[in-house]
Amino acid sequence: MRAAIFHHSYEPLSIGNVPDPAVGPHDVLIAIRTCSLCHTDMQFIDQGMAPNMKPPIILGHEIAGVIEEVGSEVKKFKPGEPVIVPATITCNQCLACKSWNETYCENIRRIGIDINGGFAEYIAVPDFHPYRLPHEYEFEVGSLISNLLIGAYHLAFDRVNIRAGEKVVIFGSGGFGLSILQMAKLREAQVYMVDIFDWKLSEAKRLGADAVLNSNKVPVCEEAVQDMLGGKADICIETIGAPRTLMQAINSLKKGGRLVLSGYSENPLPFLIGRIIHNEISLIGAEGAPRRKIPEVIHLLEDGKINIANLVTKRFNLDNINQGISTQRMGQTIRTVIYPFGLKAKREQESQ
Ligand SMILES: [Zn+2]
Ligand SMILES: [Zn+2]
Repeated sequence: MRAAIFHHSYEPLSIGNVPDPAVGPHDVLIAIRTCSLCHTDMQFIDQGMAPNMKPPIILGHEIAGVIEEVGSEVKKFKPGEPVIVPATITCNQCLACKSWNETYCENIRRIGIDINGGFAEYIAVPDFHPYRLPHEYEFEVGSLISNLLIGAYHLAFDRVNIRAGEKVVIFGSGGFGLSILQMAKLREAQVYMVDIFDWKLSEAKRLGADAVLNSNKVPVCEEAVQDMLGGKADICIETIGAPRTLMQAINSLKKGGRLVLSGYSENPLPFLIGRIIHNEISLIGAEGAPRRKIPEVIHLLEDGKINIANLVTKRFNLDNINQGISTQRMGQTIRTVIYPFGLKAKREQESQ
């Protein structure tokens, strides 16, 4: 199959042929129609690998596709069914999985980090893992659900438990920030967005942000945030993983506030422990989401409670993935989607 292979950080992915994935008796083989490019992929390419990563590896964990082939013991799926592939494969066996805390699974395998991911034509996963994509949704929507939307849902409702009237500042108006914004608005929070691109901030405004701030256009970000809020924030959510925005986030929090870290990074925290203690700040990490959040997100889409119409702003064939990566790097896109079988596959889907 064709695949984009990650060998080292700081260099382009190499496009080439690799063996098709092996399909065990309990596995399904999925032909990948869409895989969106995530901030986490960009971190590995531009900032360095995660510990335990063993290149060469195929990145990409926001996958939707069609069942191509099933293992001899598989009863649950048939070839031709459209599916969402959640970003982490959990074991269903350990105490965490059995107690509905799958994000803490002891045997978790992260697609595109621990095992090969979606910037390729095919992936094989255990048959309990994929989730049926309702026929009315495009594959791109499946990709957005697989990680971004369920991740935002898990962050806002499970990890942070945002409450009505709370002042929430989100640093980063990318796909994840804009998804969290919408979840926070469902809780009737006051939501403020900070970014360095006006066009992304106008999207945030359109999606219901109470006010927005371009931190490149003000002398001191923290002061401008305080002016915008008329005080300090109850919750600051950092989606970028950069030391500068982490500092801005902690400086914008009121005493007793919650600092939420969700932008993947290998950097150490850029502030003193005393800041956390003195101000009684709660630090909350959030990554991914259990697979069972998918139906909840599908309900929100069905009810028109969240708007994803403008989240995908660029599309590329697999052979042009490095071009897609550079649009992401330059801040020219919200979500970029890669089409392993070509953009032609999208047009055929649209004409059906
Ligand atoms: Zn992701
Ligand atoms: Zn487990």
